[in-house]
Amino acid sequence: MTKRSDGGVAPCPYLRTGHDPGFGVWRLESLTDREREVLLLLGTGLGNRELARRLGIAERTVKAHIANIVGKTGQETRTQAAIVSALAHDVLCSDDSCTRHLAGGSGRRRPTAA
Ligand SMILES: [Zn+2]
Repeated sequence: MTKRSDGGVAPCPYLRTGHDPGFGVWRLESLTDREREVLLLLGTGLGNRELARRLGIAERTVKAHIANIVGKTGQETRTQAAIVSALAHDVLCSDDSCTRHLAGGSGRRRPTAA
């Protein structure tokens, strides 16, 4: 394979690996409502103790949820699950006032001409 270094278009790794929330490879639908909630919070980088506080549950319950989430989404570590959370934020977050959702949902944002 030849590599171009002329500033050409970089191939999208999400498309190549299938790691795109649109393809459902993470099987987010297999998560319970609570697990989705934990996964959403996990994407903010919080530790177990803080997650437990936010959710009003015991720290070991948080650990159990995360272990389930990691398994169900086909990941190996909580860090990987946190990345899934960040990438799938649009799917997990249902807050209308959220500013992280892509405008229009077309998946491709066009920079507005200045
Ligand atoms: Zn959001």
